[in-house]
Amino acid sequence: MKKKISAVSRLYDLLQFGEFGGVNPSITDSSTYTFLNPDEMEETFHGHAQGCFLYSRHWNPSNKYLADAVATMENTESAWITASGMAAISCAILQICSTGDHLITSITTYGGTYAFLKNYLKKFNIEVSFVNITDLKSVEEAVRPNTKLIYTESVTNPLLQVSDIPALAEIAARHHIKLMVDNTFTPLIITPTNLGADFTVYSLTKFVNGKNDCVAGAICGRRQFIDDLADVHCGTAMLLGPVLDPLRSSGILKNMHTLHLRMQQHSKNAMYLAEKLGELNMRVIYPGLENHPQHKLMKQIMNEEFGFGGMMAIVLDSASDANRLMQKMQQEQVGYLAVSLGYFKTLFSCSGKSTSSEIPREIQQQMGLSEGLLRFSVGLDHDIGQTFGRIKKCLEETKLV
Ligand SMILES: *Cc1c(COP(=O)(O)O)cnc(C)c1O
Repeated sequence: MKKKISAVSRLYDLLQFGEFGGVNPSITDSSTYTFLNPDEMEETFHGHAQGCFLYSRHWNPSNKYLADAVATMENTESAWITASGMAAISCAILQICSTGDHLITSITTYGGTYAFLKNYLKKFNIEVSFVNITDLKSVEEAVRPNTKLIYTESVTNPLLQVSDIPALAEIAARHHIKLMVDNTFTPLIITPTNLGADFTVYSLTKFVNGKNDCVAGAICGRRQFIDDLADVHCGTAMLLGPVLDPLRSSGILKNMHTLHLRMQQHSKNAMYLAEKLGELNMRVIYPGLENHPQHKLMKQIMNEEFGFGGMMAIVLDSASDANRLMQKMQQEQVGYLAVSLGYFKTLFSCSGKSTSSEIPREIQQQMGLSEGLLRFSVGLDHDIGQTFGRIKKCLEETKLV
């Protein structure tokens, strides 16, 4: 395992300023770029001209600045910016796996990822094994001669299981396969590369941008892999073309400058609510609580100063209980009844009926996702005590405590 280097210090030391000296890099306003001579254009096409931009779907300065910042945060050699988290996940997987290959994934993943792996990859005849990622034995047993990849989320959606990245990396290395980690829930908190992961993918839509004003993603890994992704002949990212608009990437880059402060506040607030709801005898799932099955593991792999993250869940008896509570909480201004996460306001949704609804009910049961699981993305509330007071009132009025 590599030594932990503070991701924040790395980011803070990254100097990026505009061509006219602006403290923020200029925003690319061009889809295409001029060349002073034709030879240079040809070389750029063949990927040999460093620092030259050809066409914005390939690379553009704004996306390069953001890619450099994300790679710096993740301690990877390189990164590529995509127009969504799903684009990052699908392109990265399709770059690695071809027809006839096999991959192993955590059964609990974001619903869109589950649908892509379960339904869409059939088109390419890529086989997928769904395993309980916390059961390392079942992960290893799923390895086949044609396995190319183990896929997981650092902290899984929505059950908040913590992936043992060092152990998974060890299994992957032993079988000469790769490990890809979706780090959307835990930017700065977990640095998968430092724990042995080969690739990190992101929905930047969530905590990293933190404003819920756009959708974006990133793929982080070795320079050769990122160059291959953007290769003009057979790079998945270049050819499927999910490029992010430069205006959006410049916005996300600026929002990254406050990510460390936001993650600390999200974590602090989530820990407070998790403890207080636990005291009310609610069934609370939060990696920061000692009763969480992977609490110890989380403490071993996290960058402690950022806490246990902003995601928390409570388990109610039924979806109708969850619905009544959510409506009440929205009325009482606890936050918004909405999917997504990483916003300044608390967002809550009933996972089985929303972000995991792509997963059939019987599989949801098999993976332990109950109908009444209510997922919270805890906000940046200044007075979290007041927020808890409001939640408690809602629980009392809906007769759930
Ligand atoms: C939202 C999300 C995605 C998908 O990202 P989009 O930006 O919506 O495409 C993938 N993984 C996780 C864990 C997510 O929460």
